[in-house]
Amino acid sequence: AGGDDADIRDEPVSTADGTEIEVAANVGTRKDLGPATERGADGIGLYRTEFLFLDRESPPDEEEQYEAYVEALDAFPEGRVVVRTLDVGGDKPIDYLDLPEEENPFLGERGIRRSLGPDSDLFETQLRALLRAAGSENGEGLAVMLPLVATVEEVRAARETMDEVAADLDDEGVEYARPEFGVMVETPAAAFVADELVEHVEFFSIGTNDLAQYVMAAERGNERVSELGDYRQPAVLRAIRATVEATEGTDAWVGMCGEMAGDPDLTTLLLGLGLDELSMSAVTVPQVKEAVTETTLSDARALAEDALEAGTKDEVQRVLTNNIQQ
Ligand code: PEP
Ligand code: MG
Repeated sequence: AGGDDADIRDEPVSTADGTEIEVAANVGTRKDLGPATERGADGIGLYRTEFLFLDRESPPDEEEQYEAYVEALDAFPEGRVVVRTLDVGGDKPIDYLDLPEEENPFLGERGIRRSLGPDSDLFETQLRALLRAAGSENGEGLAVMLPLVATVEEVRAARETMDEVAADLDDEGVEYARPEFGVMVETPAAAFVADELVEHVEFFSIGTNDLAQYVMAAERGNERVSELGDYRQPAVLRAIRATVEATEGTDAWVGMCGEMAGDPDLTTLLLGLGLDELSMSAVTVPQVKEAVTETTLSDARALAEDALEAGTKDEVQRVLTNNIQQ
């Protein structure tokens, strides 16, 4: 990385025509927090809480979680920290949770489905820790996000649980605050009913790793179908666009925290599709920040329009390549 990176690293960045875009980092292990600040992320766009639950014999208690969330908030006193509630099942097993044997774990009891079902106690504990962290010194930036949402009912039920947790904290006289509340859009169902979901949340974050897998019916990480599962597929782009469109004219913001967000060759396209925030592995934060400053929103929109008209993944790629060569 050259000196230019260092210049823009620590500041929020804007497009060449002046729209500020949040460039955040994903945190998936204890070791990710340092690089996230060092690389100049504006905040954390996806804090994968699974790592707090891995490699141990019982779940972390409320206090331990509270401390972990406060640590993340203290690392970004000015920024937003989006904490995703526990996302287990599918490809994310945890021994002591006694997950069921399923024929198709990716289509089974994972993410929010477990939090509203067999793991409801863990969900309450996690929400207690999160609400208390939101009430801590730098807690204002906290946002809570639900994984694998497919229906409005799930969002309602999760919010009710949060209300109950808040009422308990009130009764106990424990200090807390209400964090921002949002959902990941990573199922086709969520993209299709985004206009309904948006009425219940303050933000969306598009999880393209799962969204591409489910839109294309192509298992993530399976090399035999990796061409199909590519996020340049027209069907994936249209799912993203539909999600963003549902937020237009509302107060909700929309971000992306799947791998796609960290590909600097796609930054212009993503801004053109209307994303307000991009969150990625810390390594690519400087490159994506630079890409943001090099484009105007009007050019980005024109590019996105062309990409959305493309009928195949190769055509999408041609639109992107031609744009770079111009
Ligand atoms: C995603 O699905 O895009 C995502 C960011 O979540 P995870 O990779 O943790 O499933
Ligand atoms: Mg996911």
